[in-house]
Amino acid sequence: MRPSLLQELAKADQLPSPPAVALRIVELNRDDQVDIRELTEALSQDPALVAKLLRTANSSLFGLPREISNIRQAVLILGLRSVNLLALSFSVLSTVMRGADSTFDYRYFWTRTIATAAGMRLLAERMLPTLVDEAFLVGMLGGFGQLVLAECVPERYRPVLELWRNSGYPLHKIERDEFGSTNAELAADLLTSWNLPARICNTIRHHVEPDGETSQNPGEHRLAELLHFCSICGDLLSGGEVVSGAAEIERVGAQYLEFDRADCCDVLLRIQESLPNLALGLELRTSDPESLAAISSQATRLLVRESLALNEQVRAVTSQLRELEERSDLELRAISDPLTGLRNRGFFDETLEVEFERARKNGQPLGLLLLDLDHFKSVNDEHGHQAGDEMLKQIAHAIQETAEEGEEACRYGGEEFALICPGATPEELEARMEKLRERIFAIEISAHGETVRRSVSIGACACWNAKAVTNPAAVVAAADRALYRAKAGGRNCGRLVTLG
Ligand code: GH3
Ligand code: MG
Ligand code: MG
Repeated sequence: MRPSLLQELAKADQLPSPPAVALRIVELNRDDQVDIRELTEALSQDPALVAKLLRTANSSLFGLPREISNIRQAVLILGLRSVNLLALSFSVLSTVMRGADSTFDYRYFWTRTIATAAGMRLLAERMLPTLVDEAFLVGMLGGFGQLVLAECVPERYRPVLELWRNSGYPLHKIERDEFGSTNAELAADLLTSWNLPARICNTIRHHVEPDGETSQNPGEHRLAELLHFCSICGDLLSGGEVVSGAAEIERVGAQYLEFDRADCCDVLLRIQESLPNLALGLELRTSDPESLAAISSQATRLLVRESLALNEQVRAVTSQLRELEERSDLELRAISDPLTGLRNRGFFDETLEVEFERARKNGQPLGLLLLDLDHFKSVNDEHGHQAGDEMLKQIAHAIQETAEEGEEACRYGGEEFALICPGATPEELEARMEKLRERIFAIEISAHGETVRRSVSIGACACWNAKAVTNPAAVVAAADRALYRAKAGGRNCGRLVTLG
């Protein structure tokens, strides 16, 4: 089995050593009763870290009621746990800040990091209030593995990043091809070896593909989903490609967080607002806050514009759909009979031709039923045209209901109907005729207090071998002959003629 990337780097002595302050904080955290004095003492070894921590805590993102100026106040106002986790993230990130790889885009990295962390804090306040501090921490450390790779194996990581930028192929897949694991997995392994809490390490490990692993607990899973979303927001806000980035944010926002486009824009705007302030707090070496603000606001402006453009697109598509609907409505009207809603004679002629050709080609039988209501004229004469119309509608409905899948019920003419039955055998046609005859004879309409009903005569053509038949008209003529026999045979019955 291939050794893990962590093992590989450890063997080559390429791993950063854990920062003393981080180790001490982890150690203190193991003890449930963390002593504020011990924490202050540990942090005092790294004044730069304390300064960053205080500035970050004073940034608008944390919304503190008043400014804090030392660790003791930070602990009082933010709570010991928050301060611990904040200190941990700064301390870990300070591990590998040597700037060894001059081609690594540190500006992008740090902008992305603080944007992700800010997004995590903003979203967790709303969606995971008990894990706000963890959320910020994993936001800060989600990309830690990238920093480690860039600093520890720059020659190997550079082409990976280049390929990613030029191909648009997902970074984690390219990393897996090159190293056998992703930067997130490397960070998780490294932080685990430094004894960071399992929840933090697991979240970082799984956030690139939150669905890939099902054994996480729900809190971790949710954190990983949030981190996935915030990381791609971070990508966009640090100068990532806007069109595909915006689409990805929308897709992931909808998939994991049930966000619509407006929610996504709102999150991006709020992250963007907090960026300059946070960047100042972290003393970003490689980017001055003003240009940072400029990039992110440009990204947001683009996104909002993009989103407007998308809206336009959606509107255009909707109107196209409406047009299509209208057109198909028109088309439907062109093939439908307005009184009964059945397909009309034009449709019947076309469909019969199609089915006749199909039967010819595949050698299957073709059935056709012609139905003619008995003494229908007298309904009009005795009860009025409206009563006749009502009867036609109800009978059409019954025929439609009797039709099976693949069969077409049509109004052939005045009080005549047709049913095309592809593949039907003579026995099936006989059975169908009997069913229809019964159903139609059972229909009663009331007209001026009187109950009216009519029987039906049905002629069936069972076309066995369409190849031996000249054209579809011959099928209709055969069904018509059968119908004539039914009428002559006393009406209210069906007759069958075979063909071919
Ligand atoms: P048979 O048993 O021989 O078929 O007698 P019949 O009265 O049904 O036959 P005939 O062809 O003499 O009459 C058909 C009648 O159907 C004539 C016409 O008024 C009526 N009809 C045709 N279309 C409509 C319609 O849309 N609405 C109404 N109410 N009647 C219609
Ligand atoms: Mg008739
Ligand atoms: Mg008739």
